Amino acid sequence: MKNVSIFGAGLAGMVAGIDLARQGHKVTIYDREAAIGGSRDVHPSIHTTPLQPRQTWDYIGIDLSEFFVPTDIYPEFWYNSKRLTLPPYVQNSTAYNVERGPRETSIDHKLFALARDAGVKFSFGHELTPQELHAAPAGSIIATGLYKEVYDLVGVKYSSTYGYLATLPWDKGGAHGAIHMGRFSVDYGYSAALNGMMFALLFSRTPLHEHDLERFRQVLQKSYGLNFPRWRNFLGYFPREAKLYWNDKILSGTLCGMIEPFWGYGIVGALLSGKVASLAVTNPEQAVKDFQRFSNGFAKKLARKEKMDRMPFNKQLLRLAILKARFDCWRNQELRQAVKEPMRWFS
Ligand SMILES: Cc1cc2nc3c(=O)[nH]c(=O)nc-3n(C[C@H](O)[C@H](O)[C@H](O)COP(=O)(O)OP(=O)(O)OC[C@H]3O[C@@H](n4cnc5c(N)ncnc54)[C@H](O)[C@@H]3O)c2cc1C
Repeated sequence: MKNVSIFGAGLAGMVAGIDLARQGHKVTIYDREAAIGGSRDVHPSIHTTPLQPRQTWDYIGIDLSEFFVPTDIYPEFWYNSKRLTLPPYVQNSTAYNVERGPRETSIDHKLFALARDAGVKFSFGHELTPQELHAAPAGSIIATGLYKEVYDLVGVKYSSTYGYLATLPWDKGGAHGAIHMGRFSVDYGYSAALNGMMFALLFSRTPLHEHDLERFRQVLQKSYGLNFPRWRNFLGYFPREAKLYWNDKILSGTLCGMIEPFWGYGIVGALLSGKVASLAVTNPEQAVKDFQRFSNGFAKKLARKEKMDRMPFNKQLLRLAILKARFDCWRNQELRQAVKEPMRWFS
């Protein structure tokens, strides 16, 4: 049996810890926050993600279905304050909302309970330093998420994301999820509700200004009557490459590139990569195979996104994509009824 140190008590770190502890290994998870739930600058928050539930729970060996709630129609897509009608096979896709952070209704809380039941030890208020990273035993798992410091330490290439985020109490129930594009960002904003909370995030790869936030606020007000009283700045870092190892340490979660590079869906990738990191401790060959399978296509998708990012006409591109989808439906009648999976980790 091995002693395994894991840095980062987020999704990837906890899935890895649970899997290893269940096999009898002695696991300690270190996190720089004072308690479970990640950074209080960004959480609690509601995230929306495509998901293949059965395959995901089977792969990680943990059933989290009660925490992932199917959203109402998805994607609910807005351009400025105008709702776009999408072709049927796009409109019929399914996504799920999940809560992150310190509240009892969050997925973090559930994984924390499972990890402690499995015998994982936690050490909070413990920041991974450069000295500790170098001194950590071979096979330690680094799962510190989309924060800059550790990307720099392990030399993973990344790009910055600027944002604003806000929450509101939400008593209407349901699992709302909408994507908003418009003049406020070269990327997009989203709003998502679950467990009595509405969350909104505006983000962009170019710096955002007060007037962008003001435009986004007006859009949320016009489209849903949402009025968030307090917005916070957010600065995140997205990986621009996928790699499983740094020297003899194992990388996991967003840090290792298990995030969908086009829209930034990172929840499912983080869960899967926790299991991959555990395999890297117990069965490295299988870990490399699985990692390649999951990150296959990362570089191509990132390149496609970067190419698209260089084109300035977001709105025209959006129109073209919708037009193409309508054309596909016209050519192929079956598509009208079909449900298009927006993203697949398992094929
Ligand atoms: C505001 C926001 C909104 C998002 N929205 C969506 C969405 O709608 N859909 C989607 O699929 N994805 C979304 N994502 C991305 C997704 O949440 C992440 O990709 C995923 O949670 C990453 O999981 P992880 O395990 O890699 O890291 P995390 O779950 O972030 O865990 C990292 C942990 O490491 C700790 N840590 C960090 N640095 C150190 C250090 N130096 N020493 C010790 N501990 C450290 C942190 O405190 C944290 O607990 C969003 C991310 C953010 C921030």
